[in-house]
Amino acid sequence: MLDASDAQRPIWSPEPGPAAPRNMCTDCGLSRTAKADDCGRACQFIQPDYPKMEALVHGRPRDPDQADERFFGPYRAMYRAALADPRPGAQWTGLTTRLAERLLETGAVDAVLTMAPDAEDRWKPMPVIITEAGEMARARGMRMGYAPLLSLLEPAAAAGHRRIAVIGIPCQVYALRVIEAELGFESVTVIGTPCSDNTTTENFHTFLSLLADNPENVTYLEFRADYHVELRFEDGSRREIPFLRLPISDLPPDFFPLTCRTCVDYTNVLADITVGYMGGEGEQWLIVRNERGQELLDLLDREVRLSQPGDKGKRTNAVKGFMENTRRAAGGLPLRRMPNFMRGIVGWLQPRTGPRGLEFARTRLEMKAIETVMHLRRQMPRRMKHMVPDHVWRLVEPYGLTAEPGERKESRSE
Ligand SMILES: Cc1cc2nc3c(=O)[nH]c(=O)nc-3n(C[C@H](O)[C@H](O)[C@H](O)COP(=O)(O)OP(=O)(O)OC[C@H]3O[C@@H](n4cnc5c(N)ncnc54)[C@H](O)[C@@H]3O)c2cc1C
Ligand code: SF4
Ligand code: SF4
Repeated sequence: MLDASDAQRPIWSPEPGPAAPRNMCTDCGLSRTAKADDCGRACQFIQPDYPKMEALVHGRPRDPDQADERFFGPYRAMYRAALADPRPGAQWTGLTTRLAERLLETGAVDAVLTMAPDAEDRWKPMPVIITEAGEMARARGMRMGYAPLLSLLEPAAAAGHRRIAVIGIPCQVYALRVIEAELGFESVTVIGTPCSDNTTTENFHTFLSLLADNPENVTYLEFRADYHVELRFEDGSRREIPFLRLPISDLPPDFFPLTCRTCVDYTNVLADITVGYMGGEGEQWLIVRNERGQELLDLLDREVRLSQPGDKGKRTNAVKGFMENTRRAAGGLPLRRMPNFMRGIVGWLQPRTGPRGLEFARTRLEMKAIETVMHLRRQMPRRMKHMVPDHVWRLVEPYGLTAEPGERKESRSE
């Protein structure tokens, strides 16, 4: 039941309904709504149809002859980008939350649906509806864990919001786009971030406790494109840990859930604009996907510094080494163990000679596609035919990884 006084607040967190039991589920929130029965057609992990959804959202599917659309999905422009005035508390410079702030400032939307940190645990995402631009600052930064973003749709509609913006990760955005037309909103603007290797907030705390003697004081963590993990602490100090020194071997094999090891959309291809860092070489990386995405970027005007993304190095050997290690891991050897996991890709781990800029992003996309095929084949082979889209098969084919009988279905929209 909607509490009218809550709906008036500039930021509020409606209590989500209970989650329905689901296998291979990242709790995007749909199962907590009256549309719970739609999981079967809306879920990224059941039988996604990317060509159809890309055409619906962007007016056309990705162009297989346009080399980078094979990796990153449909787009009009890509940039290396940074806010000229980086925002405190942001994961990078704060482009994501600033875009949403501008939508509220200009009155283009009534409400933004996103995540803020839970009051008890700064690493736990808490779904919030924000109606005042000044409150967007509270959503800055990355949290680790699943968050029922779509559970906010019903309260937002009940509060009378007609034009909404949603900030989401790919598995949330896929389900949102499938049901969007049935929701009755006048407009739904989607600001997406890439996402990979998510895990439960509880698992993430275990990881933090292996990285720092005082994990409760860690305020920030990021896997940077220069092959370091950056940690920031409450007292303002920072630490950078080379990937090679990460305590991956101390993590249990199921530390990363199968969902996130086999997720088929790294770059959030159904967002109007994707804000990440992989192709940004130390800055952010913007993928403007359609006209609405361009209008969003225009709202920032001179606040944003844009340049062409760099593109250096060669990924092939790194990806081959990664594939060999994944093959051994998926064949029963411990997953993501150190040093085995890293040894084979040591060439990739060279900031000066390894892939950089867009080539780094392509490297990560191919690695992710390889993980998807190998881990799903081993753990849930019966899902493959319907869950693995053609765009993933196309990324792994150059490495000799092809579908076995019964594993691949031509996309229904092609
Ligand atoms: C689990 C995870 C993995 C990611 N992996 C990659 C990656 O491999 N490559 C890459 O380029 N980018 C990745 N990103 C995105 C990246 O971390 C930054 O969020 C992005 O670059 C935007 O930075 P910013 O400064 O513009 O964001 P900010 O302005 O600080 O805003 C961040 C936004 O993300 C939202 N958010 C934070 N945590 C979550 C969450 N758990 N679920 C849903 N929304 C959340 C916040 O509510 C906020 O709206 C990942 C994000 C997440 C949540
Ligand atoms: S659509 Fe969302 S809630 Fe439903 S099964 Fe998929 S991830 Fe879970
Ligand atoms: S890695 Fe994929 S499945 Fe996991 S939370 Fe991120 S988008 Fe969802």
